[in-house]
Amino acid sequence: MIEFKDVQKYYGDFHALHDINLSIDAGETVVLIGPSGSGKSTLIRTINGLEEIEEGQLLVDGFDLHDPKTDMNKIRKNVGMVFQHFNLYNNKSVLENIMLAPRLVLKRDEAENKKIALELLDQVGLADKANNMPSALSGGQKQRVAIARSLAMKPKAILFDEPTSALDPEMIGDVLDVMRDIAKDSEMTLLVVTHEMSFAKAVADRVIFMADGRILEDSSTEVFFENPTEPRAKKFLSQVA
Ligand code: ATP
Ligand code: MG
Repeated sequence: MIEFKDVQKYYGDFHALHDINLSIDAGETVVLIGPSGSGKSTLIRTINGLEEIEEGQLLVDGFDLHDPKTDMNKIRKNVGMVFQHFNLYNNKSVLENIMLAPRLVLKRDEAENKKIALELLDQVGLADKANNMPSALSGGQKQRVAIARSLAMKPKAILFDEPTSALDPEMIGDVLDVMRDIAKDSEMTLLVVTHEMSFAKAVADRVIFMADGRILEDSSTEVFFENPTEPRAKKFLSQVA
C-alpha cells in the first residue's frame, strides 16, 4: 500500500529524511515513534503529498508520488489524515464537517451521504452532536469528529499525526478506543504517530522508531517492546513508558 525506496527529503539545506526504506502492506497498523524533531510528521506528510520528496521513490496505492503526472487528488481521496489539532471547519456543523468532502469529491448522493455521516457519528459515540458546532465540543469530541470525517471518504489508509497529544488526559481514552476499533474491524491501513505506548502494544502490528530523520528500528510490536535492538529505541522507551 505504501512503499518508500531510498527517499530523501530536504527543507532547504536541512536533510529531514535520510534514506527512508519502508514498506507498509494493506491492512497493517503501524505505529511510528521517536523523539521530537526526528521527522515523524515529515514522513507521514509525504505520504499524502503535504510535503514533497527530493529523491527516491514513494509509491502510495500504486501511484508514484515523485511523478509530476500523478494526480494528488486521487491519492488524497484514498489516504485520510487526522491531525493533532483536529483541523475541523469551525463555521460548519459537525454533520456538515463529515458530509462536505464526500459531497464535493465523491459526489455522493445527499441522502446516502447523511445516512453514512450519522452512522459514523454513532460509531464514534457522538450521535447526539450532529447539529452542534465544533466550538461546542470538547477536544476529544472534536478529534472523534475528525476521525469520522476521515472515515466518511472510505479511504484505503488513514495517517494519524499525534491525534491525542493536544487532549486532556481524560479525553485520550475515548479517542484511542475509536482508533482501536477501526484497527480491529476494518481492512484499512493505519499509520499512527503517537506517544501512547500502551496503545501501540495493544494495537500495532509493527513499530517504527525514527531519530534524526532516519528509521533506526522497524520491528514487530512484540520484538520492539520486548527486545529492541537499537540502543536509542531502548532509551526512548525507558523515557516514555
Ligand atoms: P514532533 O514530535 O515534535 O512533532 P517530528 O518527529 O514530527 O517532531 P518533524 O516535524 O517531522 O518532526 O520535523 C523534523 C525536522 O524537520 C525538525 O528538525 C524540524 O525543525 C524540521 N522541519 C519541519 N518542518 C519544517 C519546515 N517546514 N521547514 C524547515 N524545517 C522543518
Ligand atoms: Mg510531529
